[in-house]
Amino acid sequence: MSKRYQQFINNEWVDAQSGEWFDSLDPFSGEAWAQVPLSNEQDVDCAVQAAAAAMDGPWGKMSATDRGMLIHKLGTLIDANANELAEVESMDNGKLKSEVAGQVRYTAKYFYYYGGLADKIQGAVIPIDKPKVFNYTRYEPVGVVGTITPWNSSLLLTAWKVAPALAAGNTIVAKPSEHTPVSLLVLARLFVEAGFPPGVFNVVTGFGKGCGEAIVTHPLVKVVAFTGGDEGGRKVNELAAKHLKRVTLELGGKSPNIVFDDADLARAANGVITGIFSAGGQTCMAGSRLLLQESIHDEFVERLIDITSKAKLGDPKLSDVQVGPVATKPQFDKVVSYVDIGKSEATCAFGGNVRTGPGFGAGQFVEPTIFTGVTNDMRIAQEEVFGPVLAVLKFKDEDDALRIANDIRFGLASGVWTRSLHRAMYMSERLKAGTVWVNNYRSTSFTTPFGGYKDSGLGREGGIEAVKEFLEVKSVWISTDLDMPDPFVRKY
Ligand code: NAD
Repeated sequence: MSKRYQQFINNEWVDAQSGEWFDSLDPFSGEAWAQVPLSNEQDVDCAVQAAAAAMDGPWGKMSATDRGMLIHKLGTLIDANANELAEVESMDNGKLKSEVAGQVRYTAKYFYYYGGLADKIQGAVIPIDKPKVFNYTRYEPVGVVGTITPWNSSLLLTAWKVAPALAAGNTIVAKPSEHTPVSLLVLARLFVEAGFPPGVFNVVTGFGKGCGEAIVTHPLVKVVAFTGGDEGGRKVNELAAKHLKRVTLELGGKSPNIVFDDADLARAANGVITGIFSAGGQTCMAGSRLLLQESIHDEFVERLIDITSKAKLGDPKLSDVQVGPVATKPQFDKVVSYVDIGKSEATCAFGGNVRTGPGFGAGQFVEPTIFTGVTNDMRIAQEEVFGPVLAVLKFKDEDDALRIANDIRFGLASGVWTRSLHRAMYMSERLKAGTVWVNNYRSTSFTTPFGGYKDSGLGREGGIEAVKEFLEVKSVWISTDLDMPDPFVRKY
C-alpha cells in the first residue's frame, strides 16, 4: 500500500486541483511506494500567487537578521530530521542510504551558511564622478523564484537554490523531479516547524510539461533556477527568454579526469573511482572521461579493474552495498544503450553487463563499466551517459591533455592528478570548466561557486555568487545641490 503525500501551498497541504495523482517508484523493487498530486497550471498559479503575496506579508517586512535566523533554524531541523529525509529520498532515487544521509546532513550547512549571509548583503557608496550628488546601491530581492530540480540529488540541489534565494529575501515555488517528489514535501513540513510565514516556500509536484513550464512562463516568477538535462535546460531558457526572465541553468557534463605519470597513482585510482562510480555515475559532475598519460595507461587501468571488481552491487538500503540501481527505468535503458554503443566503438575492459536475479530487485542494475581504446571523436567520449560508465583515453603531455579535455561541448568540471605544482597550475588555468579539482574529485561546498562553462550551464550556485543570481541592484541618486538646475540642458 503506497503512502499519499499532498502538495504544499501557502503552508497548507492540498490535493491537485484536477484531483489526479501519480506514483513514485522505488528503483530497487520497481514498485510504487508513494503517491503525489499531479499538479498542473492551476496549482502552479495558486503557489505563485501565495509566494507573491508573501513578499508583501511578514516575510517581506522581516529584518534580514531575523530572516537569517529562520533560515539557520531550518538548517538545524534538516539536520535533526536527516534520517527521515534520507530514507524518503533514497526510496525515490535508489542511491545508497548511507550516502544520502551524509548528503542531507551536509544540506543543512547550506542553510547555516546562507542564513549567516542574509544580513551581510550590502550595497556600496559609489564615488560618483559628479559634484553635489550622493549615490549608493541597494540590493533588493527579485520576488518569486521558481526552482526546478532533477532526480539524482533532490534535496541538495534544491538547497543550492532555495537557501541563497531566501537569504536574498525572496519566496519560492519548488518543483522536484516527477521521479523523486517526496523529500521536498518532507522538507516543506520543516519550514512550518521552523516558523516560516505562509507562502514563503511552496512545493508543487508534477511533470516538466504541465507543471515545470507553467512555473517558467508565469509572469510573477522572476527568476527560474533549473538543474537538469540539456534538452529541458534549453527549453526552459527559450521559454524564459520569451518572457525576458532570468535563469540559472546547471546542466550536464562529460568531465575529464586527467592523471599524469607523476601522480600518486594509488590515491588517483581511488579518486577516479569516486568520480565515476559513486552514486552509480548519476551525477552531473561525474568524471566520465579518464585521460591517462601513455606511460601509465596499462598499469592504471589494472588498478581500476582491481578496485572495481570488488564493488558490491545491491539493495541501496544495505550498509555494505557500494553501487545501487539506476534510478529510473528510462535512465536504465539509456545507460544500457550507451554500454552497447561503447562496445561497438571501443574495448570493454571491465563490466558491461546488466545484473539481475536474487539481490538485484527489479534488475535495474548496470555493472560499473570501463571502456579502453577510446578516442575523442567517439560518442562514448563526447555524450553524457549519467551512469557507471568510464571512457579511458590516452594523452602524451600537458598540451595534448588540454586539447582532448577541452574539445567537447560541455565544461562543468575537471580533475588533475599530479605531484607537480607547475603542472597543476598550468592545467587549472587552461581547462575550460567551472571547477578544477587537483588531487581530489567531486568536492563541493556552500562556500564556493559551482557551475558550468559552455553547454554545461549559465550562472553559479554556492558561495556569495549564488545570492547575486536572486537580487536586483538599484542605483540611488540624491542631489545635495541647492543651485537651480537648467530645465533644458543636462550637465555631464
Ligand atoms: P530533466 O531535464 O529531465 O529534468 C529535470 C527537471 O526539469 C525535472 O524536474 C523535470 O520535470 C523538469 N523539466 C523537464 N522538462 C521541462 C520543461 N520543458 N520545462 C520545465 N521543467 C522541465 O533531467 P533529469 O533526467 O531529471 O536529470 C538528469 C540531468 O540533470 C543530467 O543531464 C545531469 O547532468 C543534470 N544534472 C546537472 C547538475 C548540475 O549541477 N549541473 C546536477 C545534477 C544533474
